[in-house]
Amino acid sequence: MNSRITSEIFEATAEPDPEAGLFLNVATNGLAVLDRLGLRERIVDKGHRSPHLIMWSSTGKRLGTVPNGPARDPERGSVVVRRGILHHVLRDAVREAGIPVTFGARLDRIEQADAAVRAFFADGRTADGDLLVGADGVGSPTRRHIDADAPSPAYSGLVGLGGVARVPGLAPTPEAQHMVFGRRSFFGYLVRHDGEVYWFANVTHPAADRDALRAVTAEEWLAVLRELHADDPYPVPEILRHAAGELGGYPIDDLVHVPHWSRGRVVAVGDAVHATSPSAGQGASLALEDAITLARCLRDAPDHATAFAEYQRLRQPRVEAVVGYARAINRQKRVTRSRLGIAIRDAMLPMFLRKAADDTRNDWLYNHEIAWQGSPVGGRR
Ligand SMILES: Cc1cc2nc3c(=O)[nH]c(=O)nc-3n(C[C@H](O)[C@H](O)[C@H](O)COP(=O)(O)OP(=O)(O)OC[C@H]3O[C@@H](n4cnc5c(N)ncnc54)[C@H](O)[C@@H]3O)c2cc1C
Repeated sequence: MNSRITSEIFEATAEPDPEAGLFLNVATNGLAVLDRLGLRERIVDKGHRSPHLIMWSSTGKRLGTVPNGPARDPERGSVVVRRGILHHVLRDAVREAGIPVTFGARLDRIEQADAAVRAFFADGRTADGDLLVGADGVGSPTRRHIDADAPSPAYSGLVGLGGVARVPGLAPTPEAQHMVFGRRSFFGYLVRHDGEVYWFANVTHPAADRDALRAVTAEEWLAVLRELHADDPYPVPEILRHAAGELGGYPIDDLVHVPHWSRGRVVAVGDAVHATSPSAGQGASLALEDAITLARCLRDAPDHATAFAEYQRLRQPRVEAVVGYARAINRQKRVTRSRLGIAIRDAMLPMFLRKAADDTRNDWLYNHEIAWQGSPVGGRR
């Protein structure tokens, strides 16, 4: 359709916050998209290479190692990086490409006609264009514009918390993250070469009352976490002893099937149409895949309607499979209160994980390359 598309970005937050959102896993497939954009090394250099997930039981028994990337290919493994760094790298690239970014512009509503679309922002500003791409996250107003009956996100039963800490004497964990099926809550951590610890917990929680969760202070959460993890193996209680600062406290939601990803001149990408819980470490990578796929469809299709339909056709089966995969992991993370349940889990997991390091069944998550030149868009599922 067009080899040169000019664009402009509008973002609701008032200004970039380097501390917001802690850290995240950029998976092999997301790194492949960043590589295509010439940005991979900027992320890898500042991240923690993390091709192995080492799993532990609540009694401190090593259950097995799961590849965080294609099996037997640690060089291509995923990387954990501060979200602020990923944002910074993307913002720099946007600036280098001459794309204007306006902060403090909260999309309120959208109107479209045959030949154009207009965005209305909360402060009264408007912006006009040929097309509008909503990359506005799991609470997306764009999704509602596309389809007023679009499904809402579903709560997973888990609340995500995490932080950055320094723990005297705790050795770095090169090439790995550690995951602990704690007695009363799931815990993950890694230690960077400079001693900085990135940690998170997934707490089983019955309700997703956002306002109530927001009202819980970091100190209160910390007290809860210290109690929940008090009997878990070293270094979990020690990390929590040294934890401080903001901890998040997000209800973990997902969104499996959104029937309509576009309407007229408006299309949505990323969590707006397929939010995946963090358990697969894939949400940001899927959003990157969407972006490059949509760009290619717009470049190659004769008109935007064809491009949008092709984009959804190419993306939907894959993203729904990933969201489903993450849901299955959540079921293992949710903590049963029964001792028998814990005993069964601890007995079964080593059997599942014994050969996980060489298990190629999850390679489809990571070996998804999106051709930019030549062959049709899309790779293996
Ligand atoms: C606790 C937690 C941990 C996670 N860990 C990982 C991980 O390790 N790896 C991973 O890949 N994914 C992880 N995820 C998921 C990941 O964050 C998302 O999948 C990913 O950020 C989706 O990108 P997006 O661009 O679609 O949406 P978002 O990153 O949510 O970005 C949406 C943007 O739109 C803006 N916005 C929202 N509404 C408006 C509006 N009305 N007007 C203008 N702008 C608006 C927001 O301010 C935001 O900047 C995690 C999520 C959570 C909650």
